[in-house]
Parts: sequence; C-alpha cells; structure tokens
Amino acid sequence: MWYIFRRDALEVLHDKKARASLARYFAVMGDEKPAKFMIAKRLPAKFDENEPLKDLWIKHERLTEDFYRIQNEIDSGKMDLEDMETPEKSYLDLKITIAGKILEHCHLCNRRCGVNRLRGELGYCRCGTQITVSSIFEHLGEEPELVPSGTIFTMGCTIRCLHCQNWTISQWFESGEVYTPERLALAVERLRKSGCRNANLVGGEPTPWLAQWLETFRHVNVNIPVVWNSNSYYSEETARLLAGFVDIYLLDFKYGPFDCAKRISDAPSYWEVCTRNHLYGKRYGELIIRVLVLPNHLECCTKYILNWIAENLGRDTRTNVMFQYRPEWRAYEVPELSRRLNAKEMERAIELAREAGLTNFIT
Ligand code: SF4
Repeated sequence: MWYIFRRDALEVLHDKKARASLARYFAVMGDEKPAKFMIAKRLPAKFDENEPLKDLWIKHERLTEDFYRIQNEIDSGKMDLEDMETPEKSYLDLKITIAGKILEHCHLCNRRCGVNRLRGELGYCRCGTQITVSSIFEHLGEEPELVPSGTIFTMGCTIRCLHCQNWTISQWFESGEVYTPERLALAVERLRKSGCRNANLVGGEPTPWLAQWLETFRHVNVNIPVVWNSNSYYSEETARLLAGFVDIYLLDFKYGPFDCAKRISDAPSYWEVCTRNHLYGKRYGELIIRVLVLPNHLECCTKYILNWIAENLGRDTRTNVMFQYRPEWRAYEVPELSRRLNAKEMERAIELAREAGLTNFIT
C-alpha cells in the first residue's frame, strides 16, 4: 500500500540519474547482486583474536583490497558468490574483532573519548555494550529510492545538535530496548521479507553501535542493502571498517567550514571529518547526501557544502537538499534557528545547487 502514498518511490525506479549514481544499490535491492556484507561473510580471513590491533589492521587493509576485487568479479559475472564456501573466519569476523577492540579505548567517532566501554565506562554518547533500540519500522518518509525503508532507530549520538529532531532518542530521554545481535538479525530479515528495500541503520547515530551492527549482520541470512544513515562524524577507523559492509552511505552534511558546527552541534573539526568521510563513502560504496538547509546559514554553510560536493564527489552525486528544518529541542538557544525556512531561502538553496553544477539533486 506504500506506493499509494509515495508514487515517487515507484517513479524513481525509472529515473536514469538515480539509477546511474546508485547502480549497485538498485541491483542489490532487486536481488541481482549480493549486498556487501554477504560477500564479506564469504571472504576468508586468517587472524587470532589476541593479535595486537595494529597487526589486525594490516590484515584488514589487505583484505579490503581483496574484497573490492572479488566484488568486481561477482558483479561482472566472472565469479558466483555461491561458489565461495563459508570460511572458518571471515573478513566480516575480522571487522567484528577490530570493532570490539576499539571499544576498549573507544574511538569509533571523532570525539575519541578513549573510555573502556567493555568495562562499563560511558563516553559522550552514553552507549554501552548492548545495542539499544528505540523503534523498528517500515519508513515511508525517506528518499524515494529507499522507500519502504526497513529503519532501525538506535539510542545515543556522538554530537549534540541543539535543533535535534530526534532528541528523545539521541539524548536518551527514552530508555530504549536492548537487543541481542541474533534478535536484531531476525528483525532485519522480517523487514526484508515484508518488502523493505534496505536495512536503514540510524539513531541517534549508528556509529557507537558499529561492533553490534557488524555482529548482527553476521546472523542475517537474507540479501538486503545496508544503508548507513549517519551524521558523518565518525573516526577514520570506523570509515575503514564500513568499507566492505555498507552499500549506501546516507550521510548528513549540515555545516560549512566555519564555526557553525561547533557552536550549534558541539562538533569540532566537523568540516575536515565530514569531507573525509564523504570521500571514503564515494570510494567504497554509493552515496546519498542529505544537506539540511538551516535558516540564515545559506551563505556560510549550504553554499560551501554544495560546491564541495560538486567539485570533490562529482556533479552527478545524489544530493537531497532538505527544507524540513523546524526548531526543535533547544533550537531557541540559537537565535537564527528559531524559525523555519522562508520561501526566499528555499529558492536560494535551489539556485546554489544549480550554480554548483549539481545535476542529480532532489528537494
Ligand atoms: S562512540 Fe561514543 S564513546 Fe566512542 S568515541 Fe564516540 S562518543 Fe565516545
């Protein structure tokens, strides 16, 4: 019934620009190609859990190269995933081991708190060791190519946007429900079987739960594209672990290179981190970028973001220029964010996207 409410989600199947920029995603969605995590589970890895982290990383980086070579062979029909046996230990297992070790001195996000989450210490995001879920449902409000999207909202966040729309989740005003990876895997499988086009990992922020997400997909036995729906503020180590796991990088890009991100979202070095992670996303998967247009931030943020995307990721990058901003939570503390966008600002944002030369943007 979703197609009654979202005709655009059917029409996008014939949209040449969307199909060109997200070609592999469409193929996985249509079960013509395997999701990355399916390949990662079949790629053999030789390692010992007690090896030093630096040695595990060396093996991981070699296997990442192997992964993309094999993915290319599978995609071009030279290899069949079914001909690859399930190994004793896989590339996905190696990722799980590395992510688990990172929790001992947490640096999953750029905040790099260094707390030992395995010993019960909590960092800025207040996430522990057991993945805690706010809700799981078939989301009809996402970009047309994603709908219906099997969305899993987890608790906690690595930044603190004063205008956060999901503040009850990101700031733990709800308690959420603890899931084991096995139970969450069953939920992912149910979403796919009910017709969802993807598994949409979001929060809050999915980054603090990377180890648990990887473990979850070890137990998923259906082919489903993984959408990493993130604030983009994760560490370089996390970006490397996402390679060979994430099919679509659905990344927020909210602020320009000035102090807006620090002032409004408590996110120092945002521009450097965010641009680096977008480049990783482009290299290792396919990108949909969400540019939330903020009132009074068109010339300091929106303009710089759209120009950077066009120049560094390509003019055909799938970009959602979003006009949904509304003042929520503590937005009243930021005087210029106390209202919605006006018509002039929306027109200006479209003009900026055109001036940047973007050819595949939606609003
Ligand atoms: S994921 Fe959480 S604990 Fe880990 S570095 Fe980021 S804010 Fe700190």
